Formats: sequence, C-alpha cells, structure tokens
Amino acid sequence: METTFYNELTTTSLSGELLSDATCEKLLTAPETELLPLLDAAYRVRKTYFQNEVQLHILNNAQNGYCPEDCGYCAQANSATTDIETYPLKPDAEILEEAKRAYESGAYRYCIVMSGRGPSPKRVSHLAELIHTVKTHYPIEVCLSAGLIDVESAHILKTAGLDRLNHNLNTSETHYPNICSTHTYQDRMETLQAAQTAGLACCSGVIVGMGEGTDDLIQVAKALRQFEVASLPVNFFLPIAGTQLSESVPAQRSVPTTLTPDYCLRVLCLYRFLNPRAEIRVAAGREHHLRSMEVMALYPANSMFIDGYLNAEGSTASRTMEMIKDAGFTVKTNAEDVEQLNQDEIEKRDVLLKELKVLRPRMES
Ligand code: SF4
Repeated sequence: METTFYNELTTTSLSGELLSDATCEKLLTAPETELLPLLDAAYRVRKTYFQNEVQLHILNNAQNGYCPEDCGYCAQANSATTDIETYPLKPDAEILEEAKRAYESGAYRYCIVMSGRGPSPKRVSHLAELIHTVKTHYPIEVCLSAGLIDVESAHILKTAGLDRLNHNLNTSETHYPNICSTHTYQDRMETLQAAQTAGLACCSGVIVGMGEGTDDLIQVAKALRQFEVASLPVNFFLPIAGTQLSESVPAQRSVPTTLTPDYCLRVLCLYRFLNPRAEIRVAAGREHHLRSMEVMALYPANSMFIDGYLNAEGSTASRTMEMIKDAGFTVKTNAEDVEQLNQDEIEKRDVLLKELKVLRPRMES
C-alpha cells in the first residue's frame, strides 16, 4: 500500500473529517494494508492528543451477579450458567478501602461497576453518598457503571461529584438483538443521552468478536464519535464458559472466526482514527487475544485496565507497568508522587539457572 494511504488516514483524522466506510473496511481487512505503517499512522494521532502517556484504570466489581438481563457475553447474566462468586453491593467501607488502594497504586481513575439492569432511586442516593465520600478523601477520577440510568439519576450522581458514567454500546443496532433480548440498543443510547444532558462525561465502548461484521464495528465507532465520548473501551470478547455466546457465537460474517492479534490491532487503529480525541482503552481480552503483540496496542490506545476485569483475571499491575515503561511510555496518574511512579525501577528478577534434571534428564533417573 502506498504511503499516501497511511498519511491520509492521519491527516483526515487530525483534521476532524470522517473516514469513509470503504476506507475503514480497507484498513481492517485489505491484505495490502500493512500493520506497522497503520500503527504508526494511528500513533501520530494518539501522540497529538495524549503524547506518550498511558492512563491506568482499576475496576471495582462492587456487585457481582444477580442480574436479570441476558447479555450473551456476560457471566453475570441471568442466562449464564458460569460458576461465579455472586454478592450484593459491597459495604461502603470495603469500597472506600479499594478506592484508597487504587489511588495509592497510581491509578488515574477508579471505576465502580455494578451488575444489574439499572439502579433504583434508593440505590442512586446511596451511590451518590458513596461517590461524594470517595471524592472527598482521594483526588482520583471516579467512573460509575450501573446499567440503564435516567436524566434525574444522572443529575444526582453528577452533583455528588461523579466524573464519568460508563455504559457501553457493545455492538451495532443491527447486531444488538443477537447478543441481548432484555433491553435494546436504543435503551443504551438513551442512557448515554441522559448522562450527556446531566453534564457527565461518557465512557462507552465496544466488544469485538461477538459474531458481528466489520460493518457493525464501523457503525459503533461512528456512533460513539457522534456522542463525542470522552472514554472508549475496546474489549475483545472473552469466551467465558457458561455464557450464552461462548457456547454459540452467532455465524461470523466478515470478522475473523478467531480474533488474531493483527486484527485486534487494526480495530484499535480504526477506533483511534474515528475518535481521535477519545481516551481509547484496550480493555478486556487484551492479554488473551493480543498475546505477544500486547504492547503494540499502546500505539493506537492510551489507556489500560490494571489488575483484571469484571469476571476474568488480567496481568498483574506490575507487569502492565513494566510493559508500559519498557516501550517508552509514561503513566499518567493522580498520585502526588507521579515522578516517583514513573521512575521506579522495575523489580529486578534473578536469572534462574537450569538444574541438572532439566539439562541431563537421563542422569537423574
Ligand atoms: S452486561 Fe450488565 S446488564 Fe448485561 S447481563 Fe451483565 S451485568 Fe447484566
């Protein structure tokens, strides 16, 4: 592919123009679109708005399970048979302690996530008090994910000090009925609209690999652009045993049957070009699907979770930190000792020497 193609991706994105669907399709699937120049083009956009900084987020799964909804990818769905630890909303003291730990570990943002269709008015008041307490004690950004929310609730949470509301679109309007039957794409759009009306920043993203086509991924990226989402998590579908989708992912269309690192990186580039100013987070599934290419995700994306996801484990915080520093990026944090955090030496590992039983197994027997 001519270098002009990659340069045009960067200049179109930076000038605020929209890439055509045909160009989006080409960068996702055309064999002649090479990965390294594509990553470089996306990195130039990322660097313009976020330099070499990486924002780290820590999730607190404040309530697990007990969800009446049937999202096919989710281990907490009523329809899932996954053996997860269910618990109602954690006590305030536990949530506050976890917020403290997140702050002290250098996380930029602390995300409180609750399962369920949406909170009752009583639950909204309780969450508002909790958020107010966190914000009073720790200078950390707070994001809440609590399901469907109306304008009134969004206003209460905003007044309490909430910075962002998370509510993912997950997939396109057309594909939505294939992944969930208990609420609609429109319901999700209305929650984002309510957050915007209340003046909350929106965090909303996608799950890649749920049987959608490339056209669905392009549509979601463009819908999120219209919302001007501040934060955009790109998740790669983790087939957790017992969830509806892990048993039968709907007939794949143009998306590869098995997500490859190459494809995942192309998707991240696409989302960067279409949402140049958004904090793009490489979210669930990064270790599983990107494998040895994981660090390359930092070129289009500028944000990561540390310490795992809702129901799946991830890399340890120290390993993620090491990867970020090894690649020459710096961690953006609310901590006062930011300089220290970025300069901390990664713990040295001893080189382990092979033992005789490995070198000469026959001598051992
Ligand atoms: S994604 Fe949210 S609403 Fe859907 S089943 Fe899981 S917890 Fe419930």
